[in-house]
Amino acid sequence: MTSLVIALALLAALGVSGWRRLRRARLRRALAALPGGSAATAVEIETFVGIDEHLRVRQCPCGGRLDVLGERTEPQGQRVLRVVRAECRNCERIEQVWFDASHAYH
Ligand SMILES: [Zn+2]
Repeated sequence: MTSLVIALALLAALGVSGWRRLRRARLRRALAALPGGSAATAVEIETFVGIDEHLRVRQCPCGGRLDVLGERTEPQGQRVLRVVRAECRNCERIEQVWFDASHAYH
């Protein structure tokens, strides 16, 4: 009887962790599909103020607002991309938001 209870508890734990993994993967895909979620969907900005303006209204899929942790520049062929690392105030998820800053640099 005890081993059955342990086996059931183990199965339940495995089910929960599998479900969590699935949910995380789905969230990752949802984030990548958003504008700025990847280099391919980088948000075009004319000036660097555009980054702040976009991040002010951008939401995590959970609905939370984002806090900027840091920025870096990533040249990519003719384009100059600016990548912002941001953390959700609600679920503490860290995401990267991609901006095409080619016009801001020229
Ligand atoms: Zn969130």
